[in-house]
Amino acid sequence: MKYIDEFHDPALARRLLDDIHATVTRPWALMEVCGGQTHSIIRHGIDQLLPDSLELIHGPGCPVCVTPLEMIDKALEIAARPGVVFCSFGDMLRVPGTGRDLFQVKSAGGDVRVVYSPLDALDVARRNPDRQVVFFGIGFETTAPANAMTVHEARRLGIANFSLLVSHVRVPPAVEAIMRAPQCRVQGFLAAGHVCSVMGTEEYPALAERYRVPIVVTGFEPLDILEGVRRAVRQLEGGEHRVENAYPRAVREAGNAPALARIEEVFEVTDRSWRGIGTIPESGWRLSDAFRAYDAEHRFEVEDVRTAEPAACRSGEVLQGLIKPHACEAFGTLCTPRTPLGATMVSSEGACAAYYLYRRLTPGAPAAREAAGRAPAPAAATDAVKEASPLG
Ligand code: SF4
Repeated sequence: MKYIDEFHDPALARRLLDDIHATVTRPWALMEVCGGQTHSIIRHGIDQLLPDSLELIHGPGCPVCVTPLEMIDKALEIAARPGVVFCSFGDMLRVPGTGRDLFQVKSAGGDVRVVYSPLDALDVARRNPDRQVVFFGIGFETTAPANAMTVHEARRLGIANFSLLVSHVRVPPAVEAIMRAPQCRVQGFLAAGHVCSVMGTEEYPALAERYRVPIVVTGFEPLDILEGVRRAVRQLEGGEHRVENAYPRAVREAGNAPALARIEEVFEVTDRSWRGIGTIPESGWRLSDAFRAYDAEHRFEVEDVRTAEPAACRSGEVLQGLIKPHACEAFGTLCTPRTPLGATMVSSEGACAAYYLYRRLTPGAPAAREAAGRAPAPAAATDAVKEASPLG
């Protein structure tokens, strides 16, 4: 397949790896921001092919994982109400709230539907004018344009029975929070290509300068990631800290102008709570005053729902790159994709799910490629993790 197969070329991968090995002379720690990159790294065993002194730290880039528990509980409360059709992307349905998940609300009679686009939810609202239709609008900058467009369309078409439960988050404030944490070990970033395809790269040079870290925008295929790593370690070894775009087939410096305009029209920046991390100033979006009538939190009066995380789950430490998933005592025992305690085990982009799916059960486990031949992940686990999600 064009634009996929050529980014899996083993000979090119070997050359990039040789270059990385020849470049690295000291210990370095890079964080890949995006959960899609984490899955690609673990799936292809990329981290195990790098020099021992080069560590990849998994960042808080899985949209499902960072959606706060209280927002899940708000979704559960709204979805259980009579007369409501609650629409969501598939992998939110298994994320545990306090005591239950959306699948359980559905099995108890709630009208919970999986859709592949927020516009599908708007169509449900158009065809069911006597029902309240809510779309669970979570995710990073990647999903914000489609959600903004849907609210814009709802107003343009006069569809008043549609609303959005919004929990959008933004990457640059999270990068800043990671760098400010006293225990931070990150020395460079692989930035998420799909986020930058919307937002461009203009927010990153100030961060690279302030924290003296290279930031390399890259994609999700093995060669994308290796090229991102190669450029980042070259900068580190050379004492540089610049923003580089290693994903030019999708990312322009100024981003996607129509998408940015729609975000600007519909959303405004707000503080957001990140699951397991806490509140990060100006790290998210909410509907602006002009579109507040479409805000499901306001319409269903669930603004005051407050919750506490399960004590056994260490996903906050996983999301901040402080521990690897298999360091959590519940990993693979109490917590599996079938019985997840935290969102990082549920989501198709969660780090705990990646480690479970690709059999990284203990530190120093064999390379994913070898393990795939000897001990494939249980089919049930694979099915549970690989639910389709257009989130990014
Ligand atoms: S393995 Fe499960 S309990 Fe442990 S951090 Fe991951 S999601 Fe939480």
